[in-house]
Amino acid sequence: MDKNTSAIHSPFPRPDAYGALAMPVYHCLAYEFPDHQAMIDSFTQVSDDPDYSRVTNPTVIHLEQMVRRLTGATDVVAFTSGMAAISAAVMAVAGAGRRVVTSRHLFGNTYLLLTRTLARFGVETVLADLTDPEEVRRVVNDRTCCIYLETITNPQMEVADIRALADIAHAAGAALLADTTMIPFIYTDARALGVDVEILSSTKYISGGATSLGGLVIDYGTCPDMARNLRKDMLMNLGGYMTPHAAYMQTLGMETLSTRYEAQERNAMAVATALSHRPEVKVCYPGLPDNPYHELAARQFGGHFGAMLTLTLPSQEACFRMIDALKLVRRATNLFDNRSLAIHPASTIFGTIDADTRRAMDVSELLIRLSIGLENPADVIADLNQALDIALSRN
Ligand code: PLP
Repeated sequence: MDKNTSAIHSPFPRPDAYGALAMPVYHCLAYEFPDHQAMIDSFTQVSDDPDYSRVTNPTVIHLEQMVRRLTGATDVVAFTSGMAAISAAVMAVAGAGRRVVTSRHLFGNTYLLLTRTLARFGVETVLADLTDPEEVRRVVNDRTCCIYLETITNPQMEVADIRALADIAHAAGAALLADTTMIPFIYTDARALGVDVEILSSTKYISGGATSLGGLVIDYGTCPDMARNLRKDMLMNLGGYMTPHAAYMQTLGMETLSTRYEAQERNAMAVATALSHRPEVKVCYPGLPDNPYHELAARQFGGHFGAMLTLTLPSQEACFRMIDALKLVRRATNLFDNRSLAIHPASTIFGTIDADTRRAMDVSELLIRLSIGLENPADVIADLNQALDIALSRN
């Protein structure tokens, strides 16, 4: 069955007392049992019956099962945010003395989680150029628990060869963990590319237009201990399970995912093409045929390229003037809202990271990040062009 049809008609336990057409929101925290044995079975995970909503909740399970059916994963766990999902997945495999191999090209908080927060607990993070398999092979050793990558890095827009990284990780007995926030999982067969565990911020495309925070860990069953550690260790001891209300919003988001995503991607392509005709501006979008990652991205992501793009202007002042001149596109963080959004990452998301580190991460002061929404693209292009005219009128 088509994935969109499957998402819209996702089954849930019946009969429902009221014949509900959609999975109801179970806001209660604790669940009652018919006898002591059923209670023991639930608490010792012999049965899947919910006991307490920090670790399991029927509405969240519905979202998890929906994603599991769509991806063919062995387990899916939903968290309160993308960062909660990323930290739980990495902590499920890493530990003191273990090595994580990743890139300097990462979302800012993921970079800080790996290089600062987990470093305090003895996890060693080694930064390598993930587009250079030889360099990666040199730093992966027998203490390596995982290679961690973003499928399209935010905001550097880099695309690495996922299959090559999977082969290196697996040869060393390590796992490949991939943040797939930029292209929804319904378009990429991550497992076929060798990804062991997909992690994403469902705050973005899945939530259905910035309705709720969330994160998903999609486990393909090939990373030893991931499923057990996630549910028995991370959720129980650290918390961070998705709330039932967020799960309900994200289930609705899943029902309209392909319609929204494909429109946003078309709009992003239209914006990137229009702005690429301006000689003063460098547009970075893997959908453009002259982008260095175009062919690799097309192959890996089933011809999809997402709805994030970046502009490089001649100076930081020009970036600030452009941001201030926007009338329709909103000055805000987040990605894949229904509205188009613009941000200057170096001074905001990466604003508390020192300038040297920021430069090493290739987060340039000349860069504006755009997330293209569902508006008529002609309106977005007109707004961006008038803002660029003002920004570039003096330099
Ligand atoms: N991963 C990527 C690629 C992101 O862009 C973000 C947030 O922008 C996150 C993870 C973190 O997600 P959340 O804000 O849901 O915690």
